[in-house]
Amino acid sequence: MPAFIQYRFLSPPVPLTNGRAPFAPYPLCKVEAALLANGFKHEDIYVVPPNYLSRVVGEDTAVVGIHVLDPMGLAPVSWTLRVLSGGGDTCTHYEFEKLMTTVRNLKKKYKFKVVVGGPGVWQLKGLEDKYDIDVLFEGEGELTFPKIVKDILDGKETPRYVIGESVPPNLIPPIITPSRNGIVQVTRGCPRRCRFCSPTMFDFRSVPLETIIKEVKVNLRSGIKAVGFATEDILLYGANGLRPNLSAIKKLFDRVIDLAREYHIEDPVGFSHVTLSTALIAKEAVRYISEVNELSDDRPLFPQVGIESGSPRIVAKYFSGKSYPWKPNEWWDLVISGSKLINDNYWYPCFTYIIGFPDATPDDYTLTTELIDRLREEGFKGWTFPLLLIPIGGTMIERSGYREFITLERLPQEAIDAMVAGWRLSIKFSYEIYPRLLSSIKNPLIRKVISKLTTKAINAMEGWLEDFGKDPGVIEKVYSKINIRTLRRFIKTLVITKVLR
Ligand code: SF4
Repeated sequence: MPAFIQYRFLSPPVPLTNGRAPFAPYPLCKVEAALLANGFKHEDIYVVPPNYLSRVVGEDTAVVGIHVLDPMGLAPVSWTLRVLSGGGDTCTHYEFEKLMTTVRNLKKKYKFKVVVGGPGVWQLKGLEDKYDIDVLFEGEGELTFPKIVKDILDGKETPRYVIGESVPPNLIPPIITPSRNGIVQVTRGCPRRCRFCSPTMFDFRSVPLETIIKEVKVNLRSGIKAVGFATEDILLYGANGLRPNLSAIKKLFDRVIDLAREYHIEDPVGFSHVTLSTALIAKEAVRYISEVNELSDDRPLFPQVGIESGSPRIVAKYFSGKSYPWKPNEWWDLVISGSKLINDNYWYPCFTYIIGFPDATPDDYTLTTELIDRLREEGFKGWTFPLLLIPIGGTMIERSGYREFITLERLPQEAIDAMVAGWRLSIKFSYEIYPRLLSSIKNPLIRKVISKLTTKAINAMEGWLEDFGKDPGVIEKVYSKINIRTLRRFIKTLVITKVLR
């Protein structure tokens, strides 16, 4: 990743406003809210962007809490992209190292305790000494984290490894600091029990509507121009187990969309994930969400959906709950009819699927390729993105002893073909959708420049795919040697690629 793209466009530095971050990653906002709800004072808690840590930490700092999602670059998307780009470091790991160097230096001076929490904590087990971490905190923070902080302040011994208790929904306090991108969690956990998944290890709950409304207001009042629901399946909001609750979904969208209109928010109220089986059960809810959001071909939603595999054998073995109440051998029909349903309602999803199930055979991969081909024939609108299987800590697959981080050399040609099929479909859809998405850019000159850059990026992706499809070894031979971190190297690479092509 060129540094200028990372810091200018993808993750521009967040300023310090009155000594605090004006917005923060949602989990940090939740931890702050939990401390406040447990008697800590606002003036004793500071949520700050990493690059301002040294300005805020001092003699009176007792605890530095750090939230991690992917500290070592081992999460599914980063691992997959790392493997496909020929190795090298990930931005997430690079930033974590940088942050921990600052924290270690500050710790030497001020002797505070370091508590690291978040969904990426599994990557740091065994590395506590290396990073001088006092407590690794896994699980939910609302009830247990304030107790740990009190113990530290009281000078009590704290365990090196803590698992946070599950929190009843009515005890989840609303955020005070606005959340980055207007994210608000509406459900926690997932009842479908896929074996490779970590959110399913949490109890399934829906956040009370009043808490959600308070959080959306915090964000909108601060000037954030978006509302995005974090959920494993939006159609399970308010559900009892796997039975959707239409009235709860309607109320959620009605109230939040009214609020968004009050604040003149132009974009639809989006959500992160949905499951096709729930969509097929709750067709009316799908239509309702699209109607109240006034979705159209030019105003679609882009949720993420895991279709995982085209092989009913793999469905039955690793994620049979995802097809419920249908049977694993009905998976194809479910995926095809579910896709049509959501596409008809202007939900253009990113379908992710998994390469590298421990005992996947060439036939299993061929079935995945065939399912993707079928989606293409049926006119599917969306992306299909392969991810390598990761034994995420705490998942059922990891607990059963599976620990392998798969690389390309270990995969049969059929797996490579399945990856190529997905990207081909994604490229086709990207060409279709991007002019419509860019049409909202008012300035014609900027629109033209971005349009040209987007075409170039998709063309480059196509070129890479052509090479990869013919010989996956090209990644090691060619792409692993490319370094585009600095602007000079980025331009040099562009020039060389142009000459070679
Ligand atoms: S449906 Fe999605 S969130 Fe739920 S268990 Fe399966 S992978 Fe996890």
